[in-house]
Amino acid sequence: MSYDKENIFAKILRGEIPCDKIYEDEYALAFKDIRPQAPSHALIIPKGAYVDINDFSKNATNEEVVGFNRAISMVADKLGISEDSGGNGYRVIANSGNDAHQEVPHLHFHLLAGRPLGPMVYPIKSES
Ligand code: 5GP
Repeated sequence: MSYDKENIFAKILRGEIPCDKIYEDEYALAFKDIRPQAPSHALIIPKGAYVDINDFSKNATNEEVVGFNRAISMVADKLGISEDSGGNGYRVIANSGNDAHQEVPHLHFHLLAGRPLGPMVYPIKSES
């Protein structure tokens, strides 16, 4: 899938659309999700143009991969959700493609925290 420069997160990166910023460095931008699904719901996106985690894992430079992943603990500590920072832990989710219901085609990590998050994947109801 080719990268769509008009996706909403590309517009946020270009400053064309506002966001509630949590953290920013050379490699990553983190901001609050507009429709939070937990008391704390942050999104971390790489500065580079990558559609999803598959694209990023395959095509990003080592420097970008390291820089982006380092942002996770920076954000989690800043939000106070990591156990290191006195929080109760968090979950990282990266949806990739149709079955994962990826909505925005620019790689993003969801950081969810602030309540027990339940099972990692909900079982699908049996059809029989
Ligand atoms: P996905 O389903 O692609 O993994 O998640 C996309 C996430 O982006 C959703 O949780 C959605 O609420 C969030 N989102 C969509 N549009 C915007 C926006 O304009 N601003 C912010 N802050 N979050 C957005």
